[in-house]
Amino acid sequence: MLLFKQKALLQVWLGKQRQEGEKIGFIPTMGALHAGHLSLIRAAGEKSTRTVCSIFVNPTQFNDKEDFDKYPATVDQDILQLEAAGIASLLLPSIAEMYPEGIAHLPRYDFGYLETVLEGKHRPGHFQGVAQVVQRLLEAVRPDYLFLGQKDFQQCLIIKKLIELIHLPVELVICPTLREPDGLAMSSRNLRLTAMAREKAPAIFQCLQYIKEHIRNLPVEILKGNVRESLQKAGFSVDYVEIADATTLQLLLALPTSGPQGKTVALIAAKIEGIRLIDNMVI
Ligand code: AMP
Repeated sequence: MLLFKQKALLQVWLGKQRQEGEKIGFIPTMGALHAGHLSLIRAAGEKSTRTVCSIFVNPTQFNDKEDFDKYPATVDQDILQLEAAGIASLLLPSIAEMYPEGIAHLPRYDFGYLETVLEGKHRPGHFQGVAQVVQRLLEAVRPDYLFLGQKDFQQCLIIKKLIELIHLPVELVICPTLREPDGLAMSSRNLRLTAMAREKAPAIFQCLQYIKEHIRNLPVEILKGNVRESLQKAGFSVDYVEIADATTLQLLLALPTSGPQGKTVALIAAKIEGIRLIDNMVI
């Protein structure tokens, strides 16, 4: 595996790959890699002939400084995992490499409604930061395919919109959420859970399953109320429990009973012992 700290050198290598007809798949990450990331690498291996990963903990997408400071860093182990997974190259840039002009005057994007709900509402500025770094990464790599995890459902919709806004010819591939045997969605932040919090954390998945099982026989408000209550009883501080249209993220007060039935998604964000976990399920 080739490790690049500079975008320009990666681009020289990518140019050669393209000349040889290789199809480039790209997986942006913030490191602390787990099996969920590796599942994206496997998916990339099926569609592209050269897979490029990036590891960059992007400061502009953290609205909570403590979350940024405490974000797990396991770069040496990550490199070993990527090598074993058959990644062709890794971009490991510094903050100065990604933002040579500093972070004070970065572009702003118009994501409209999408940025006003759920993660957008609870983490102001988060998706602007995500878009700022993803645009730079996409412009550096110019991949044929971009692989993202459904685990970050709203982020997938934001990046889809970003790709439209900046007119980049890249195919977005959304991969299913990988879970621990007890249902907890794999996440780098899980490394920060104490044994007690780790034991409680699968409650979020169980609540999503509860919503899926009862969506047809209980009113949406009752369902959401029951889930909130059970998470709070288990010691979570709940940011949101919502049921939304899976394409637009319009929040649903009731399931549509007539007309075309689009896909619906249940989404939860909650903190346990100060660690914020998110998960979702298409129902
Ligand atoms: P992150 O390093 O958390 O920024 O995640 C990098 C990519 O991996 C994003 O597209 C995530 O949605 C995806 N990802 C994170 N956790 C999982 C998971 N449990 N299953 C599948 N993909 C995931």
